[in-house]
Amino acid sequence: MPIAASSAKADILVAGAGAAGLSAALALAHAGFSVVCAGPVDRRANGRTVALFEASLRFYRALGVWQHFRGKTAPIAKITVIDATGARFPAPTLSFAAAEIGLSEFGENVENDVLVDGLAGIAAGTPNLTLHEGLIGNINFDDDAVRATLADGQEITAALLAAADGRNSLARSKAFIGTRSWTYPQTAYTALLSHKKSHLNISTEFHTRSGPCTLVPLRPLPGKPNRSSLVWLMSREAAERRRGLSSAKMAREIEEEVNSLLGPMAIDGPCGFFPMVGMSASRLACRRIALLGEAAHIFPPLAAQGLNLSLRDAAALAEIVEDARVLGEDIGSAQTMKAYEEARRADVFIRTNGIDFLNRSLLFNNIPAGLIRGATVAAFSMIGPLRRALMREGVLPHGTLPRLMQEPPLPQAFPAAAAAERGARA
Ligand SMILES: Cc1cc2nc3c(=O)[nH]c(=O)nc-3n(C[C@H](O)[C@H](O)[C@H](O)COP(=O)(O)OP(=O)(O)OC[C@H]3O[C@@H](n4cnc5c(N)ncnc54)[C@H](O)[C@@H]3O)c2cc1C
Repeated sequence: MPIAASSAKADILVAGAGAAGLSAALALAHAGFSVVCAGPVDRRANGRTVALFEASLRFYRALGVWQHFRGKTAPIAKITVIDATGARFPAPTLSFAAAEIGLSEFGENVENDVLVDGLAGIAAGTPNLTLHEGLIGNINFDDDAVRATLADGQEITAALLAAADGRNSLARSKAFIGTRSWTYPQTAYTALLSHKKSHLNISTEFHTRSGPCTLVPLRPLPGKPNRSSLVWLMSREAAERRRGLSSAKMAREIEEEVNSLLGPMAIDGPCGFFPMVGMSASRLACRRIALLGEAAHIFPPLAAQGLNLSLRDAAALAEIVEDARVLGEDIGSAQTMKAYEEARRADVFIRTNGIDFLNRSLLFNNIPAGLIRGATVAAFSMIGPLRRALMREGVLPHGTLPRLMQEPPLPQAFPAAAAAERGARA
């Protein structure tokens, strides 16, 4: 007699255990749902870090997650943007200070693998959350539920699938949600560096003709008091040449590119090369499925927006399904998913297109484009209210902050208020 594969039920199945999936799973479990999160946990170091801004830190603090990262992150108090395009009319250097918008720091920088490993550990210890570290093999949508088969043959049935299974999302394709994809003639090189001089909690972006070369503060390690992470966007050809360089030669090329800002440097541990692509899903949700993170949107790592945007997806989804439950509605219904789509559409559109524009404006080498960029930067440099509005938009985006990102976090909406808001959204 064949042995029946085991099956389990959950309110919500999260596909993908990257930073976005694990964060969404924790937020949904925090809201009281039973959650299964399924996906391999990638703990490999690749020189990549994420700068998490104030709204994201509020989210992790509200979930009780951030305390686990104490001592593993580095604050970013200032951001400096230097025009290194070699333009005839270079833009002035732009300096942003968190204090100008009443914050002690814009956010914190942490290694990607440290964040993902930490979130996975917390998820594994969360009572109404089950973490399965394996790929989802198949997904079927029924009218009343979604059914997924995990790598070990187990079947999970849930009312909603939160799809955070990355750029080649199986969940997205099984739901027949299309995408628009494009490429950039760039590769991002990532590395962790130790250097002679202190970064003074300042992140410095050198805007070059091949894209930004950005140094971001990193926590000190014993014997290495001064550390930064690097994201350097360069042409594909330059990346191919640099793949063959020794670590000492590469460190010298980095030091030259950043004008010895932090003195002599050395590369600590593995580095990474990431071809630059963009992708936008044609919709963010439909009955029984909500897309989040890189399953929904991808753009180059300028201004550290990608994961910060994904965490707003996660916080918004938790809020919307929580409201639906309070109202006695089906959490995976077309109506609930429409509320998610409407809550996230503008934020995703603005970030994807804003970053695309910023990146292309650097690659576009002609005098009018240079003049427009120079004039825009000069305006941000000289006009305080404009500069402060830009800073706020980067770290605490206006109009899109879910309850978990408010300070202090807002409690669950009362049913009447939630109903009124849902009525207004519909
Ligand atoms: C060089 C670089 C620097 C960056 N710096 C920043 C920064 O400073 N700040 C910032 O906010 N953002 C930054 N980003 C963006 C940020 O790293 C990404 O937005 C974020 O990592 C995306 O997380 P994710 O969970 O959506 O995707 P992923 O990390 O790709 O996770 C998707 C997961 O889904 C899993 N999966 C795939 N198929 C299946 C399946 N069938 N079943 C189950 N699981 C599946 C994969 O194994 C993977 O673990 C940077 C990006 C790059 C490339």
